[in-house]
Amino acid sequence: MSKWVYKFGNGSAEGDASMRNLLGGKGANLAEMNKVGLPVPPGFTVTTEVCTYYYANNNTYPADLKDQVKEAVKYVEGIMGKKFADNSNPLLVSVRSGARVSMPGMMDTVLNLGLNDETVKALAKASGSERFAYDSYRRFLQMFSDVVLGADLELYEEALENMKKAHGYKSDTDLTADDLKELVNIYKEIGQKIGKVVPQDPWDQLWAGIGAVFGSWMSARAITYRKLNNIPGDWGTAVNVQTMVFGNAGDDCATGVCFSRDPATGENRYYGEYLVNAQGEDVVAGIRTPQPMGSIGDGTSLEERWPHLYKELVDARNNLEAHYKDMQDMEFTIEHGKLWMLQCRNGKRTAAAAVRMAVEMVEEGLLNHEEAIMRVGADQLDQLLHPMLDPKAKKNVIATGLPASPGAAVGRAVFCAEDAEAWAAKGEKVILIRNETSPEDIGGMHASQGVITARGGMTSHAAVVARGMGTPCVSGSTDITIDLKAKTMATKCGVVIKEGDWVSLDGAKGQIIEGQIPTVQADTNSGNFGKLMGWVDQIRRLKVRANAETPQDAKQALAFGAQGIGLSRTEHMFFEPNRIADMRAMILADNEAGRREALARLLPYQKQDFKDLFKIMDGLPVTIRLLDPPLHEFLPHTDPEMQELADKLGKTLAEVKARTNALHELNPMLGHRGCRLPITYPEIAEMQTRAIIEAAIESEDAGVKVIPEIEVPLTGSKKELDIVKAIIDTTAEKVFAEKGKKVHYIVGTMIELPRAALMAEELAQSAAFFGFGTNDLTQTTLGMSRDDTGAILDEYRARGIYVADPFASIDVEGVGKLVKRACVEGRKVNPDIHLGVCGEHGGDPKSIEFFEECGLDYVSCSPFRVPVARLAAAQAAVKAKAKK
Ligand code: ADP
Ligand code: MG
Ligand code: MG
Repeated sequence: MSKWVYKFGNGSAEGDASMRNLLGGKGANLAEMNKVGLPVPPGFTVTTEVCTYYYANNNTYPADLKDQVKEAVKYVEGIMGKKFADNSNPLLVSVRSGARVSMPGMMDTVLNLGLNDETVKALAKASGSERFAYDSYRRFLQMFSDVVLGADLELYEEALENMKKAHGYKSDTDLTADDLKELVNIYKEIGQKIGKVVPQDPWDQLWAGIGAVFGSWMSARAITYRKLNNIPGDWGTAVNVQTMVFGNAGDDCATGVCFSRDPATGENRYYGEYLVNAQGEDVVAGIRTPQPMGSIGDGTSLEERWPHLYKELVDARNNLEAHYKDMQDMEFTIEHGKLWMLQCRNGKRTAAAAVRMAVEMVEEGLLNHEEAIMRVGADQLDQLLHPMLDPKAKKNVIATGLPASPGAAVGRAVFCAEDAEAWAAKGEKVILIRNETSPEDIGGMHASQGVITARGGMTSHAAVVARGMGTPCVSGSTDITIDLKAKTMATKCGVVIKEGDWVSLDGAKGQIIEGQIPTVQADTNSGNFGKLMGWVDQIRRLKVRANAETPQDAKQALAFGAQGIGLSRTEHMFFEPNRIADMRAMILADNEAGRREALARLLPYQKQDFKDLFKIMDGLPVTIRLLDPPLHEFLPHTDPEMQELADKLGKTLAEVKARTNALHELNPMLGHRGCRLPITYPEIAEMQTRAIIEAAIESEDAGVKVIPEIEVPLTGSKKELDIVKAIIDTTAEKVFAEKGKKVHYIVGTMIELPRAALMAEELAQSAAFFGFGTNDLTQTTLGMSRDDTGAILDEYRARGIYVADPFASIDVEGVGKLVKRACVEGRKVNPDIHLGVCGEHGGDPKSIEFFEECGLDYVSCSPFRVPVARLAAAQAAVKAKAKK
């Protein structure tokens, strides 16, 4: 026989806090609170396995469930000395849902279940208060009709409001017993009229309540929430049935919600609110203004009203915090001067509060360093690293989209990259608004405070590049329509933003806001933040580098604690206006001599780029990747632009067009790019190597310690790597001879093709390091580009197929396997090989946990993700230790 029901009450329980998966969060903690000796109304939990059974068996229950529920009800009756469905001394219960994680969208709680026309009379008699009994009954009828029967709640609220209006009452508490009796009749009439009649038999009520909780697991709201939060559908929910205690039975009764510390700031103070003569959600529903827990000196606080109960609550708070070693969010009810605890859970908190609590709990001796760093969500840390819109400012949100890149941005609307650059050059702050972005827009994106796109997902070009730059971005806003000709953005709500109008955006919330909202810089260098990150750095094994190519990004990375540059993409350096012309001349040259001439003009720029990076990263490694994208990406696409270029180079439009077409890659991810460029045009790699080595020598002469790592992209075979490596080494030797001086450098390769991962043992013979380019490796392994992933996954999920986004967190079963294999095989051949990940996954906590398992040496991510990656790396190390 299976056990489907777990009882709790009177200081003992069949479950405990560790049984969350079976009992749900609420059930597990109700059991635990019993065990730590807190006063909890007795009850029982119907397990999540019943939910699973229910859906696997055509919405039916296990045969032995009925008997187990009956037996549990008897157990509760025994403790309470009352009887369920009894007409003289009735036991009333609440029916509460509770999944593993707290989940909006699940069924709301039904209180006062067990009341009917007979039991209400008994309750009135037993309590000596008709008013209380009928208040409870009308609440029950309303809740049950709404939550279980799906009736229109407004009909009931309207009836209540009308009754108050008719008598001139201000508050619900003004209603008399007779009023409430009448209201009960009105509610029943409403039920009759709309065909949603509340059953009179308490057992029917109970089973309907339990069924409604399980039914709500598959409600549209719950399914959507699970989809958004990656919660598997087969977890199921538990149902808690618990003896009612009444906060609405008089003026010596109350109900409240409290936190063991301030969830907004993290301050160690008891924080909460309560309401006298109220029930359940009244506190949060805003029906009456609640009063504070702790004294504010006006006599309204619980502390002043009932000092002994306040003390009991403070004890409960201390007890629970010490027990769970975490900030608790608690619900309580006071019935005729007696305190009952109804719920506790680890409280939600802002990132700032999380950091402060973690540090202070260490100082209080509650946590050790390893426990403390686990208390702060790595992804949440992001909130602290970007300026925010002033929370106090008034905001008119005119459209929403995807929260693609966090942070606040305020600027004037522009509708193309060139305008963004031109306006920014004049000192204007701009927001770039596009349908979508492409590599040509990078300059404009860089010049902008923030980016808005109408199309594209969380991994679209705009989203990925913006995150990389630390530029706030709202992508894929279907609320907006852009007219590129008129340079306007129209929103669904009817607002039209014209070029030059001020717009603000909140990239963490995905909001587009009208006007110029003031921003505030979050305090990232406060004592607590620094302290926590100090522990993080002691605990982690993985090093964290940054992907950066501009001095600005490199400095930011360093400020955030990066231990070097893991990827410097040299192509971004050629998009600047004064360089793109030479780049284009090089690409369109008829022969090698022409190419070399143009490259010679690019050399000084490129050299300066590297000198800047070396200087900023003094003493830290800098990985420089040779030119990677297909050459046509540097060429103009419109006829007038091509004509202009042709004129400049003394060519015809047709010639330029022909060359562009010849270079065009149907799939720009594949084809003639990466290491295939230097193999066909060695002079490009020669120029870049010369720039790197000359920069290194000159930097060393200036007293800078340089650690250059030259990286070959898109290799698939040892032969390819060897050819390019030979070009690099020969050029370096040449420069050494010219300068009469040597510097140490190493050559390695990106691993971004499945073939490369499978050839790791060969590649490791020539490579000093592997840089796993997991963005491209994911695309080439899964046959899915990051731009279309969002749409594909939506289609899958609409069909009930759960698939994780492989660009958000590494696809462990495919891409991860390749990475792991390449690490193992590469190390066998070359034990000193240095292994790192660059690409978005390098800043993703879940992926970092996997990279820790692989034993990589470092992860590299965008500068703004560096603190997140440091924390995630430390958390991964703690988890890995626990597994051992
Ligand atoms: P949620 O999961 O939305 O917090 P709860 O199950 O905690 O829902 O219940 C909603 C409200 O009803 C809370 O204020 C809770 O304290 C109250 N409540 C639940 N069960 C009881 C009970 N047995 N006696 C008194 N109040 C209860
Ligand atoms: Mg609750
Ligand atoms: Mg690549």
